[in-house]
Amino acid sequence: QPVIGVLALQGGVAEHLAALERGGAVAEPVRRPEELAGVHGLVLPGGESTTMTRLLDTFELFEPIRERLAAGMPAYGSCAGMVLLGSRVLDDRSGQDGLRDASSAASVRPLAALDVVVRRNAFGRQVDSFETDLDFEGIDGGPVHAVFIRAPLIEKVGSDVQVLATVAPAEPTPPERGRQESSRSEPDVAAAETSAGTIVAVRQGPVLATAFHPELVGGDERVHRQFVHMVRAC
Ligand code: GLN
Repeated sequence: QPVIGVLALQGGVAEHLAALERGGAVAEPVRRPEELAGVHGLVLPGGESTTMTRLLDTFELFEPIRERLAAGMPAYGSCAGMVLLGSRVLDDRSGQDGLRDASSAASVRPLAALDVVVRRNAFGRQVDSFETDLDFEGIDGGPVHAVFIRAPLIEKVGSDVQVLATVAPAEPTPPERGRQESSRSEPDVAAAETSAGTIVAVRQGPVLATAFHPELVGGDERVHRQFVHMVRAC
């Protein structure tokens, strides 16, 4: 059984540990470089990527994790974890061209394990948090239920990055329209109008990332199981 660490500085650690165990791994919290050295793969949980950046420094884990990633360690990042695995981080959609809040984006130091540009808090206030069902490339058995909480999205992917899941771009829908008048066919129209949709799950070699939180969906470990497979294959 592979031993998979969960970065345990902040955020949804316990849920990932439990999902990994259910998915067939031995799961261990990682707070110290010595603990990192003992794992075959690492999960970076959701939380707050600016806070995690600071804590990675304080716990002297940034460089050891960066080195392991550069050496091919499998990793899976959900939400803030996905932000940390990216190569470039943009801040939220405030203003039309986005970057009003660039100073706070600068306080996220990404680990650059994925050749992607990530935008934090990308879904806007009205859809701050939402849930949906997604087709997930490589995962059989029907759509994956996806919980988004102040989620990032992937704005650009490099040529080696495989897109695993998308959602129709969640342009802030006024709640009164979105909730009450939406008919069953409305999401399809929205999806058709917006071509490929918004990228919310990717893989590049041994690195997997989702903008959402599969660890919060009890009774469905398919995403974690997929990561356990990736670690086994390494
Ligand atoms: N908004 C957070 C960030 O950018 C991520 C939220 C989450 O992990 N649920 O760090």
